[in-house]
Amino acid sequence: MTHDAAVLKAQEIASRVLAPSAGQNDKTGRFSTEAVESLGQSGLLGLMLPADVGGSELGPRTFAAVAATLAEADASVAMVYLMHILGATTISAARPPVADAVTPTLREIAAGRHLSTLAFSEAGSRSHFWAPVSRAHRNGHGVFISAKKSWVTSAGHAQSYVVSSLAPEGSGPTDSTLYLLPAGTRGLSVAGPWDGLGLRANASAPITLEECQVSSDFQITDDGAGFQTMLNLVLPLFNLGSAAVSLGLCRAAVAGTASHLKSAKFEHLGQSLGECLPTLRAQLAAMQIDTDGLSARIEDLVDHLEKPRETTMLRVLESKAAAGDVAISVTSAAMRICGGAAFSKHMSIERLFRDAHAGAVMAPTGDVLREFIGKSLLGIPLF
Ligand SMILES: Cc1cc2nc3c(=O)[nH]c(=O)nc-3n(C[C@H](O)[C@H](O)[C@H](O)COP(=O)(O)OP(=O)(O)OC[C@H]3O[C@@H](n4cnc5c(N)ncnc54)[C@H](O)[C@@H]3O)c2cc1C
Repeated sequence: MTHDAAVLKAQEIASRVLAPSAGQNDKTGRFSTEAVESLGQSGLLGLMLPADVGGSELGPRTFAAVAATLAEADASVAMVYLMHILGATTISAARPPVADAVTPTLREIAAGRHLSTLAFSEAGSRSHFWAPVSRAHRNGHGVFISAKKSWVTSAGHAQSYVVSSLAPEGSGPTDSTLYLLPAGTRGLSVAGPWDGLGLRANASAPITLEECQVSSDFQITDDGAGFQTMLNLVLPLFNLGSAAVSLGLCRAAVAGTASHLKSAKFEHLGQSLGECLPTLRAQLAAMQIDTDGLSARIEDLVDHLEKPRETTMLRVLESKAAAGDVAISVTSAAMRICGGAAFSKHMSIERLFRDAHAGAVMAPTGDVLREFIGKSLLGIPLF
C-alpha cells in the first residue's frame, strides 16, 4: 500500500462508516466495532508493521495523515486507531527471543483481525505513565502482574493490551518492563464504564489485572527497559498521532463553521450570517490560520521523525502541547461563532469542542509537556 492509497482508504471509511454514526455513537457512548472492522479489511491496522508479517511498512507521515482524516469524521475512532498503531508498533519492537512468539499476533494485526492498545496509566501514578506503581513478580517461566490500569482506550474491545509494570528487580520508579497480554488472560477484566466528557465512543475504561500470569514469551522489552521504549518509540508517535487528531478536529470545526455561516440566514436582512457579519468572517479566518499553522507544525514534526536531529525531541514535546491548545481554541471559536445552534447541539460542533479537550489531559498532558520543555531549555533533568 502506498501513502496515497492509505489516505484514500481512510477518506472512504471516514465518509462511509464514521461520519454517519459519529453523532449517535457519541450520544450513547457506543464503541464502533464496524469502524474497526473496516479499518481491518482495508489493511490500515497493519499500516506501520513490517512487510514480512504482512504489514504495509508505512511511516509517521502516513500515520499522521490517516489519523487526521479519521478524526475529521470521528475523533473517538481516530483515538482507537492511534492507540492500536502504538500497541502494534511496540509489539513489533519486541526483543529477539520474543519476536517469534509475538509473530502470530503481528500477522493477525496485519490481516485486520486484531486490535491492540496501550494500558500504561495507573490509578496510583495517574498521568505519570512513565512510573507505574504496579510491580511484576517472578513466577516460573514468566511473571504475574496485579495492577489498576485507568483509562484504557478500547477496553473490552481490543484483542490485546500492551501493559507496563515495574520490573521484578527494578529499584527506581521508571524501571519498568512492557508485556503483551491477550484479552483472554485470566485475571484481566474491564473494571468500570466509560462516560467521558469527550471521546465518548472510544471505551477508555479502567481495567484491572489480578495476578495475571504472563509467560516470558510475551515480555516485550528487557527487564527495566520499558521506560526507554516508552520514551523513544511510543512518545514520538503518540504525540504525532495526538497532534494529528487535533488537526482533524480543527479541520472539521472550520468546515462546520463555514457551512453554518453560509446556510444560516438573517431573513429580515436577506443575508446569511457570513455575508452579514465581518466579525464572524474574521473569527473564521483566525480558525483557518491556526489550523494551517498546526498542519505546518505536524509536517515539521514528520520531517524531524524521518530525519532525526538534535531538535527532534523538542519538536516531539512541543507538537502535542501546541496541538492541544490549538484544538481547544479553534473549537471554542467555532462554538462562539455558531452561537445557539452549536450550544443546543443542533450541529456536531459541540462534539468537536468536547473531544478537543481530551488532547490536553491525555498523558503526557499539556502541562507536563510544558514542564519538560522548560526543564530541557534550562538543562534540568526531566526525571
Ligand atoms: C479519553 C482518554 C483516553 C485515554 N486513553 C489511555 C490509554 O489508552 N492508555 C493509557 O495508558 N492512558 C490513557 N489515558 C490516560 C491519560 O493518558 C492520563 O493518564 C489521564 O488523563 C490522567 O488523568 P489524571 O486525572 O489522573 O491526571 P493527574 O495526574 O491527576 O493530573 C491532574 C493535573 O495535574 C497536572 N500535572 C500532573 N503532573 C504535572 C507536572 N509534573 N507538572 C505540571 N502539571 C502536572 C496535569 O496536567 C493535570 O492538569 C486516557 C485519557 C483520556 C482522557
